[in-house]
Amino acid sequence: MTVSPPTGPTDSTAPAEPAERARKSLAPVFEPRTVAVIGASRNRDSIGFSLLHNLVVQEFAGAIFPVNPRAESIHSLKAYPSVAAIPDPVDLGLVAVPRDAVLGVVDECLKKGVRGLVVITAGFGETGAEGARLEAAIRDRVRAAGVRMIGPNCMGVINTDPEVRLNATFAPTPARPGSIGFVSQSGALGVAILNVASDLGVGLTQFASMGNKADVSGNDLLEYWEDDPATRVIAMYLESFGNPRRFTEIAKRVGRKKPILVVKSGRTTEGARAASSHTGAIAGADVTVSAFLEQCGVLRANTIEELFDLAVALDRCPLPRGHRVAIVTNAGGPGIMATDACVNLGLEIAGLSEETREALRGFLPAEASVGNPVDMIASASPEDYERAVATVLADPGVDLAMVINVTPLVSNPIDVLEAAARGARANGECPVLAVMMATDEFYEAIKGRGDLPPVYRFPEPAARVLAQLARYGAWRRRPAEEEPPVFPVDDAAVAAILERTGDGYLPPADAFRVLELYGVPVTAWRFAESREEALAAAVGLAFPLVAKAHAPDVVHKSDVGAVEVGLEDLAALERALAAIEERLERAGHRPAGWLVQEMAREGHEVIFGISTDPRFGPLLMFGLGGRYVEVFRDVRFGVTPLTPTEAEEMVRGIRGVKLLEGVRGEPAADFAVLAEVLLRLAQLSVRHPSIRELDVNPFLAAPDRSDARAVDVRIRVGSEPELPGP
Ligand code: ADP
Ligand code: MG
Repeated sequence: MTVSPPTGPTDSTAPAEPAERARKSLAPVFEPRTVAVIGASRNRDSIGFSLLHNLVVQEFAGAIFPVNPRAESIHSLKAYPSVAAIPDPVDLGLVAVPRDAVLGVVDECLKKGVRGLVVITAGFGETGAEGARLEAAIRDRVRAAGVRMIGPNCMGVINTDPEVRLNATFAPTPARPGSIGFVSQSGALGVAILNVASDLGVGLTQFASMGNKADVSGNDLLEYWEDDPATRVIAMYLESFGNPRRFTEIAKRVGRKKPILVVKSGRTTEGARAASSHTGAIAGADVTVSAFLEQCGVLRANTIEELFDLAVALDRCPLPRGHRVAIVTNAGGPGIMATDACVNLGLEIAGLSEETREALRGFLPAEASVGNPVDMIASASPEDYERAVATVLADPGVDLAMVINVTPLVSNPIDVLEAAARGARANGECPVLAVMMATDEFYEAIKGRGDLPPVYRFPEPAARVLAQLARYGAWRRRPAEEEPPVFPVDDAAVAAILERTGDGYLPPADAFRVLELYGVPVTAWRFAESREEALAAAVGLAFPLVAKAHAPDVVHKSDVGAVEVGLEDLAALERALAAIEERLERAGHRPAGWLVQEMAREGHEVIFGISTDPRFGPLLMFGLGGRYVEVFRDVRFGVTPLTPTEAEEMVRGIRGVKLLEGVRGEPAADFAVLAEVLLRLAQLSVRHPSIRELDVNPFLAAPDRSDARAVDVRIRVGSEPELPGP
């Protein structure tokens, strides 16, 4: 891959202090001048051989010292019986001895003055308590000596920098130089990652397999790459987040300088938890991770392949200003596929200006279509591609472009791609991706050609990448230092109410009081113990009213006929109360109380929710509400702390946002009040972690702020959720 132009997503901001520290402390690991391979072996099938072999054949720029008490020489290098016997200083100790010898070897390395360690050996924390103890002992030694260690139980590290050329792994596939820094939590996946990178001709700056992360973690690597100009994209394969809070802090900072991509495994294995609230039922561990990553500006990929698709685009393309796509094609069908894929992913098909259409008409045949997609028909030449791409990119209404080519009989697809690249360079501010429906030979020929636009075989993956570019571009434009607002509220009163229940569901009156104390608009309500009291309580309320029975064993009141709306007078209320009681008793429930409410008549039903995740803390939900929440699942999640921009994006980010914006002449809902309710609930969730689940369903999102109100709420409290330590 060639050196990338400075138009890309990397900003050259002043170096941050933690980044400098990380670079210094990890230099012995990634940029050693000398490496000792402890446990080097003559046995070709052993890891100890592969490590040495990779160092040698990848032409490590420094000196290599094999350590093995039973060999004179290995791989034509003089071997030493121990680290202590090496006459020269050793920067990096690469350890592949049997597990029970590791602690001794580490001690010996520290005594020798080794400055970095990579421990390949397995059998530690991943195997049980004894292994974990041994691992902790090693970590304590290493940390006390101020030395950094990768692993144990890892595959090693690579640095492709031509000045270093370090391949300290036992992976069979070498890495070529490039601009992606890759960290993998899994060693086995690390091998797969290097294979895919090699197949795609994609290059890396450094690669690290983290193993058990006893000392160095993925967070340290983020900081190592933070200010490294050669690393333009950071890619991570993660199985778990050691410390989500620290990851958030670092990722939000680093992500403003260069994109961070994550493949997080466990997408399908983690189902939704069993819960009786709507929010709890929908909020599985995986949506938490997605919401969390999104708020950190981290791009999530489903597979290693998808991750490289995206990484290559982020490396080669500038960041888009918006999400309006132009499609240029030589065949109608793929143009339609591309349009569908883009629209489904929330991108907009750009409306081309009259000037742009005129310019296109100037050189395209009469049968061509100059709308968007621009269909140049099968006769399109490479020159047509160049001019068409340059022309649509000159349109101020275009932020991104997808160029599609179905290999025609006449022209060579490489010529087409090169022409498209020239067209793209004429503008230089818009990302251009290419979809080349061409042969394997074509793909072989363009491998590693960093001067060409990123290429995909089909429109769908290209559209996915465009959508991610647009999303990351939007995240980068967000205000950087935004903090959650602080609403003045009576937290002591809230705490007293929550403590009254301690464990379980709050009585309805308490749940409404909590909302009111937190400034969430609530419809006027009265709670009564009996039907007579309910009738009396109605006197202070404005008709029409709503009557609801409360029975602790009923989750959804309307399921058992315990809600009647639109009661115009006292007589109607009296009839409703009696009818509800009869229905409840027939269903085997006893009303424990009555709720009489004013009827909210305007607005769409939306839901607000809180659930808690043991690692990530409180999670907020917003979506279309009502009885069918679980069916439509048109909801968005956010983790705390939640900023106003994030709340706004949650509210505007649901699929059914058009409903709230008003269809068929309806007025739009007041979005500001919705975002504010989210922020208030976020504060509630953070300050009162005993709230395990909360559903406000429905909240009526009215056009006028003063009409918006909650009409139903359930709150479950429990003992404080366990949060991971620092
Ligand atoms: P549940 O969710 O337990 O079945 P709700 O209190 O949410 O009971 O009532 C069910 C439905 O009745 C709501 O989704 C809403 O459509 C309607 N409803 C309830 N209370 C009111 C009210 N005060 N104003 C307008 N509609 C209401
Ligand atoms: Mg409800």
